[in-house]
Amino acid sequence: MDLGWVSIALLYCCILLICIPSCAAELSPNSSGLERPSSDPAIEQFEWQRRQMVEYQLRDRGVKDERVLAAMSKVPRHQFVDSSWRDLAYRDGPLPIGHNQTISQPYIVAYMTEAAEISPDAKVLEIGTGCGYQAAVLGELAKEVYSIEIIPQLADSARQILSKLGYENIEVKTGDGYQGWAENAPYDAIIVTAAPKHIPQSLIDQLAINGKMVIPVGTWYQDLVVLTKTQDRIVEERTLAVRFVPMRRKFLQ
Ligand code: SAH
Repeated sequence: MDLGWVSIALLYCCILLICIPSCAAELSPNSSGLERPSSDPAIEQFEWQRRQMVEYQLRDRGVKDERVLAAMSKVPRHQFVDSSWRDLAYRDGPLPIGHNQTISQPYIVAYMTEAAEISPDAKVLEIGTGCGYQAAVLGELAKEVYSIEIIPQLADSARQILSKLGYENIEVKTGDGYQGWAENAPYDAIIVTAAPKHIPQSLIDQLAINGKMVIPVGTWYQDLVVLTKTQDRIVEERTLAVRFVPMRRKFLQ
């Protein structure tokens, strides 16, 4: 065979070998830089931990509402905590979120959310945005979520992560939860994630008829109270013994 033809054939093969992998890389949807590959081991690990959390910490302990379980299967809890705590994000306990505050144990988030009986067209108020995790769970379930946080830095970072994750139905304001958020009242549900000594009257006033409020009440010892407002009365049911950070009255800078 003519040596000239052999070298042309070899050169052609080399060009093919170099081009095919780079074309394949360009065509792959995961190589665009916009999306992380679904086979990313870190993401898979968190998804797996989240499924374990839902099955063993929530469903096995009696959380039944499939909408709540689905919401908690979806919200990436690890993205709401500092990167140094990420590996513990799905463990069965609270976690620090800075400024001496904590994100509640997953079971308590699920329990409170289930007790609030949130329908898809509900308007919900949360007191104590913290890192924004509970607000995101509510955002999966309700039509509109309003959340108040007294520490401005926490409110800012919660706003950032919620917007990064695409929650357009959640509004966070820096303010004092004792006043509630009268402009958007009445609320079908109110979830309070810091403990006052007594249930604030303004929050009862801002709850809709047939609405539910879930609120830890007390100082050192606290009870989780599920309050139902009917046309003519307020019914309070004391459920779990819980431990939340106190609900503060003054702004902290
Ligand atoms: N729900 C939060 C955790 C809440 S920790 C989450 O998912 O991360 C309790 C939060 O309540 C803290 O961030 C604390 O700063 C806030 N807080 C305490 N007193 C408050 C008040 N009077 N008004 C609004 N927020 C308050």
